[in-house]
Amino acid sequence: MNHRKQFVVEPGQKVRLAKINPSDTGGPESREEALAETQRHVARMDALQYLLYANAEQSLLVVLQALDAAGKDGVVRHLFSGMNPQGTAVVGFRQPTPIEAAHDFLWRAHQRTPGKGEVVIFNRSHYEDVLVVRVHKLAPKSVWSKRYTMINDFERTLRQNGTRILKFFLHISPDEQLARFKQRLEDPARNWKISESDYSERELWSDYVDAYQDALEQTSTKHAPWYVIPANHKWFRNLAISRIIVDTMEDMNLKLPPTRVDLAQIRAKYHAAEQEQGFRGTSPADAGPGE
Ligand code: ATP
Ligand code: MG
Repeated sequence: MNHRKQFVVEPGQKVRLAKINPSDTGGPESREEALAETQRHVARMDALQYLLYANAEQSLLVVLQALDAAGKDGVVRHLFSGMNPQGTAVVGFRQPTPIEAAHDFLWRAHQRTPGKGEVVIFNRSHYEDVLVVRVHKLAPKSVWSKRYTMINDFERTLRQNGTRILKFFLHISPDEQLARFKQRLEDPARNWKISESDYSERELWSDYVDAYQDALEQTSTKHAPWYVIPANHKWFRNLAISRIIVDTMEDMNLKLPPTRVDLAQIRAKYHAAEQEQGFRGTSPADAGPGE
């Protein structure tokens, strides 16, 4: 199953979210099969991240956008748990601080993009500046409407500097959102997640749909594609996203870097010296698993 092809927004394509089924499960896979396959993808992402880090030539930026309760946090928790925290970061974007607001809207995003060898996940992103800002009229149309081009230029710059960009819109239905809010109200372990604004934002659903559709249409490019992921079923959401990330990382042609030193010379020099002095250091058998 090629989920990249299935869920990508082609550059210039019109997007009608109402026509995309948020309960889609993409094929014949069962929940159990999907969970097992997702686990395999997570393990593969871990191995690929190791190569990315070792190589330190390219990087990966994953952008997560969605309406409340669509599962951005769940994606972070389930899919990135396997990656080594060294070389990985999650960045959440909230209302801009006064310093952030005093700069152009891309300033704070650009500071947190991945350096060479790193994976960064944006939990919300610079896209809020054409979404919440538009819906709540925090800036006039003359301001936010120019931002799509700025975003495309920004992302092209990143891509030309070795950053792969994957952008996921988690697509849920209003009913599913309400069910998840209800679950948060009923389950004491989830009470803390509820905010008053969740319910008030919900009333602006169709405004958000308009804003998302425009953003998806105007900023899905070859160098930074958007994927609309059916997200009513968490297991399918995780399967599709993990598969797209693995397929993309496999395409990055990641390999262990060449050794920077002359191993034969080091072996000859230090092992000879070790024997001469009768020195015994920590043997590799003492190292922990995975070292
Ligand atoms: P959850 O989905 O679990 O509620 P969240 O991503 O909504 O998590 P919050 O801290 O509740 O996290 O919300 C962050 C808020 O910051 C969102 O309402 C978002 O719209 C807002 N925000 C982010 N960027 C901007 C921006 N540039 N301008 C104004 N508001 C922004
Ligand atoms: Mg919220």
